Amino acid sequence: MAASPKLVSTWSFAERPCAEAWPALRDGGSGLDAVEAVCRAVEDDPGVDSVGFGGLPDRDGAVTLDGCVMLDPCRCGSVCAVERHPYPVSLARLVMERTPHVMLAGPGADRFADEQGLAEAALCSEEARAKWLRWKQRPHDVDQSRDAGYVPRRPVDSGTGGVLYPDGSGHDTVCALSLDRSGTLAGACSTSGTPYKTPGRVGDAPIIGHGLYVDPEAGAATATGTGELVMGLCSSFHVVEQMRCGASPRDAVLTALRRIRDAFDLRPVHQVAIIAMTPGGERFAAALRPGYKSVVSDESGTRVEEPDEVVIPGER
Ligand code: ASP
Repeated sequence: MAASPKLVSTWSFAERPCAEAWPALRDGGSGLDAVEAVCRAVEDDPGVDSVGFGGLPDRDGAVTLDGCVMLDPCRCGSVCAVERHPYPVSLARLVMERTPHVMLAGPGADRFADEQGLAEAALCSEEARAKWLRWKQRPHDVDQSRDAGYVPRRPVDSGTGGVLYPDGSGHDTVCALSLDRSGTLAGACSTSGTPYKTPGRVGDAPIIGHGLYVDPEAGAATATGTGELVMGLCSSFHVVEQMRCGASPRDAVLTALRRIRDAFDLRPVHQVAIIAMTPGGERFAAALRPGYKSVVSDESGTRVEEPDEVVIPGER
């Protein structure tokens, strides 16, 4: 029986990309094409300073991109620390489709992109460079992959396509999950990582099982937020494995987020949101703290939604 297609993405900056990807998915297109298209559109948007072109650089001023795609445990692909090519999700898809490998890193990933004929491009926008130069005046401010001793507020979704950071910097992976008419689940993630990160730092987003996991039998899950928290507990794999054992997406996501809440000494900047989807298309999204939003496309159209639940609701 044909499935009822669905597309869910993280953060309201994915609203237009989801609305544009939806008609093809609704009309029988592939879910993998849909999640790739959503990520590519966000990667292309210079106004999003945490994904693709325009993403904020590392401490030394270099923009590096991470991304992955997954259909099932035998079909996944990933790239990290890409420095010369602007579409990490498309590159990750080529790793999945054209190599026997799962993950290519750094110069090797860029060389593979060259071999595949992908166009090189400068990744640092004028605006991102200007922000980096400003950050260099107060360099202890942001690198959320370290305990930097300074506590900016965590990202809060404006609900209108932007994510607000009082200090003008942020970090948000675009993560997308889809179910297509053939009943195939697919997922993709793309990020430039935490702003002003320690050079070489890679977060959860491109790592299969951490930022994304898809199993056709059990379901799919993907995470955005402070990568180090997600990585400590293999959160996407954890959610899917719970669903394999019979948990609802709600129970699986909330259990994973509570594990993060209880395992870490959380600082105000920390945020994690996880979305999950069953093979039948039931979905659930929750965040550790307020401020996160999802974008959903289904037969009712495309809309920005609040998470179904927030684990630490009082904090803002
Ligand atoms: N999870 C990503 C990372 O840690 C960034 C984010 O989603 O905010 O690299």
